Amino acid sequence: MGNLSPQPKSPIVGDQTLQIEINTDKGIAESAFQTHGLRIEGLSGLPWTITTDSGKIDPRSGAITIEPSAGIPTQHLLIKGSLDALDWTLKYDLTGIGRITKSLTITPKKDLLVKTVSLWNGRSETAPIVSSTTLQDIAAFYRQKNEGLFVSLDFPYSKIMREGTTTAVTYPPYQKLKAGQTYTFHTLTIGATNLTNKIRYGFDEGEVDAMDTYVQERFTPRFQRPMFVSACINNRYTQLQGDAVFYTMKDHPTFSFNPDILKREMELLPKLGMEYYQLWTGPFDSVSDDPDPSFVKQTVREGRKLGLRLGDYSGTQEMFCGHYNEHRNSLENHPEWGISRADVCFGNPKFVKFYKDLVVKNAKRYGFEIHCLDFLNIHPCDATNHGHPTGQDSVYEQIKGLVEILEGLNAVSPEMMTWSNSGNWAELLPKIAWANPNLYLTDPFIADPWQGLNMTRLLDDARRQQMVSLHYTRFVPYRNFTNCQYFFSQNSVVPDIRNYQYGALSSIAVTPNLCLAEVRPWMDHLPEQSQKEVIDFYKKWTDFLKSNYGLWTKTYHVGGNPGGKEVEVYSHAKGDHGFVFLVNPYYWNQVVSVLPDRSLGFEGLGQYEVTERYPIERRRIVGLNAIGPAGASFNVEVPAQTVIVIEIQPAPKTITEPRLYGVPGTVEQTKDGYVVKTSGQQGVTERCIVMLPKTENSVTEVSVRDVPKQPLRLWSPTPISEVVINGSSVAFDVMFRRDKAPSDLRQWRVQKGTLADGLAAGWSAEIPNATEMQLPMFTNYVFSLTPDTKPGPIHVGPLAEFCGAYVENAFSEVQETWIDLKTGLKSKLLVGPLMGNKTSPSYHVQNPIEADDAKTWWVSTSFHLPFNYMIGAEPPFDDHQLLVFPFTDPSRVVQIKAWINGVPLDVNRYLYPRNRALSCFYADLVGSAALGGKTNKLVVYFEVN
Ligand SMILES: [Zn+2]
Repeated sequence: MGNLSPQPKSPIVGDQTLQIEINTDKGIAESAFQTHGLRIEGLSGLPWTITTDSGKIDPRSGAITIEPSAGIPTQHLLIKGSLDALDWTLKYDLTGIGRITKSLTITPKKDLLVKTVSLWNGRSETAPIVSSTTLQDIAAFYRQKNEGLFVSLDFPYSKIMREGTTTAVTYPPYQKLKAGQTYTFHTLTIGATNLTNKIRYGFDEGEVDAMDTYVQERFTPRFQRPMFVSACINNRYTQLQGDAVFYTMKDHPTFSFNPDILKREMELLPKLGMEYYQLWTGPFDSVSDDPDPSFVKQTVREGRKLGLRLGDYSGTQEMFCGHYNEHRNSLENHPEWGISRADVCFGNPKFVKFYKDLVVKNAKRYGFEIHCLDFLNIHPCDATNHGHPTGQDSVYEQIKGLVEILEGLNAVSPEMMTWSNSGNWAELLPKIAWANPNLYLTDPFIADPWQGLNMTRLLDDARRQQMVSLHYTRFVPYRNFTNCQYFFSQNSVVPDIRNYQYGALSSIAVTPNLCLAEVRPWMDHLPEQSQKEVIDFYKKWTDFLKSNYGLWTKTYHVGGNPGGKEVEVYSHAKGDHGFVFLVNPYYWNQVVSVLPDRSLGFEGLGQYEVTERYPIERRRIVGLNAIGPAGASFNVEVPAQTVIVIEIQPAPKTITEPRLYGVPGTVEQTKDGYVVKTSGQQGVTERCIVMLPKTENSVTEVSVRDVPKQPLRLWSPTPISEVVINGSSVAFDVMFRRDKAPSDLRQWRVQKGTLADGLAAGWSAEIPNATEMQLPMFTNYVFSLTPDTKPGPIHVGPLAEFCGAYVENAFSEVQETWIDLKTGLKSKLLVGPLMGNKTSPSYHVQNPIEADDAKTWWVSTSFHLPFNYMIGAEPPFDDHQLLVFPFTDPSRVVQIKAWINGVPLDVNRYLYPRNRALSCFYADLVGSAALGGKTNKLVVYFEVN
């Protein structure tokens, strides 16, 4: 890669990745830009322009000095100039690899009102791509084949405007300057982008990556550890009534109510790994003796002892919080504040000072280290007495005021964390993260027809969808997001205790931060054993994130986008070590191919070993002798509704101890060989490889002990098959005793027909002449990390809406199993390579029936249920075995009926409490005609519009 050729009087600033040439032949100009050694054709521009009350000013005239003046690319360039109206200093500094930051300082010679400033005025025939929110513009992107650059103001507001062939990145400081007063504008950064031509959500992954790095590196992130936070709010009892929110406070700890529950909650949170805890009331809702200042101080002290940092809340422009405004505080009954409703605007210095002084004073008074800001509602303001220009330009002034408040709070303590809440914070992305590092942008909501029977889990999926889409469209680093696992909507068909782990892990798949809200009220209703499980789980994974935080400052993403019906693959890796999260939110299993290369953050990884960290702690088999060859991918079958977490690291060079792959457990030496002590779900077959240190001996026999001892009347074998030895090591399949529980039902027989015709023909018991096929039809593709292997779109009819069925919570037990490996000098066992089971996805072959436009369908399948409850001795609803009928869009379903073993089955619709326009169909197998220990015939009729 060469440099932009230096000409006389043409200094160059930059590095090998980005260079800017400054030409002073005719005035001053940014005369050329080069990224990755290639010149961006036809791009040049004026270094700066400002508009003032006495017209437009730019640096094309007047005397100029440049240091250094020419030659080799420099990392710092200083240009000084003198105009009639002002003296100016422009600095170019290399602030990162391929990133140059510009800074402009002016000293007017007479009083001057600076209305707008543009540190970027790029002339180009082709307009750049501009990323925007509705309130402001984020960055301009210039693209040329495989390289390009971005231009961004280093402030969470800018406007990017094109006039003729010039694009300006501008903002309205609206600053009155006195003669001789020196003033520095917000800086602006130009960064090289390396285009990958892989587009997600409209932007090239290379652009997203460059912006993410810029946001993380332009200003040092405040937190070099995960942000774990909780709040005392108990929204379960929300009832909106006039200006009051809530019904009961009896289960609700605050500084003023229920100190006993507050104490209990404070003791619980650190056990879950939480560090920050936000409490009410905040300074606006308080009065002088409520909350009692000595109680607040004492509570903060007690929190510190527990490792908990406490803090409060304010409602931005609303100030007051309808949930907690016990004393009905208002601006009217606080005349001493000197603020009227008409003053309220973050663009109004008087209001900003009042707000900042109050929240900062309160934080300092009590030693608070968290402040939550809610209800943000910045919009153009037309007030003429707020000291800002009216309309759109007022938005800059308001964001500046908000940032000033955030920075005031941040200055209270190095550990202070401001935490955005609801409102229009997303409008200020991504750069508001510099002042407000923890972005929680909305209370949980769901807008897309995600299929499921647990509200909390569905909200976690929707949050991940929000975080991922905002990462790609607004370039927010994942380290600045948080998912609030909010246990406030407990009205689910299946309980949170079976879903919270998925919710937590699918969140930390993308972000290191976690908020647990209403966790104590949820846990209060759990039995002691489940409480212990919840505590152990969160402690384990919050500790894990703390020790691996460095890897979580970057999230690698391959595979599907959330909601795209494919497994999502997220990775956190550096060098030859990392963790990969495979997230399958859907009701059908999918096979993904994982290639631990640069796309997942791995570099220099040779032969590798894969350890599953969740759901089963075990080493996985990925190749010959269980080891992954250098540079090779491996396939993983990700079961429906599951997150798999795997750790990838270099394989051991030699084995000195027995090493177990494929199943969890241990290998222990016995008098005539070894015993493998393992366990697995009943009926599941697992491939197992035992690598043993090299000796003269081979495995001569593999047999299962009757341990733990089974009752004779229920005795069930544990088959061992496919035994292969190689040297002293051995591979075999083990099927854990008893029948396998059903999960996703994929093999179906389908036939079009109306309800009346089918009933008349007896199809509810048996559908003759039906077509065999696998459902859902769109998932039979191979999913590969190389995008070109995916077949193109095909026409599908309404049958595609039906995604098969899933048996939720079918009875299954873990079977402890002891396997003896006898060793000796001579073995009669088969000798061969030690390989895993081939997990390979099948290609989809289209059947003509898929394109049929019929809207009424009969479909049937069968499944074996190992056990069903009888004689009315039945568990509570939470423990029922259910059938789930996921549809692509359940709102299209006009009618659905089902029969099990020829007997009608009630199909119910679960309307999601957080959006009752969305739903999922299910049926209860307990009390139905489904038989335990037998194969059951399921027939479904449905009509879609
Ligand atoms: Zn205003």
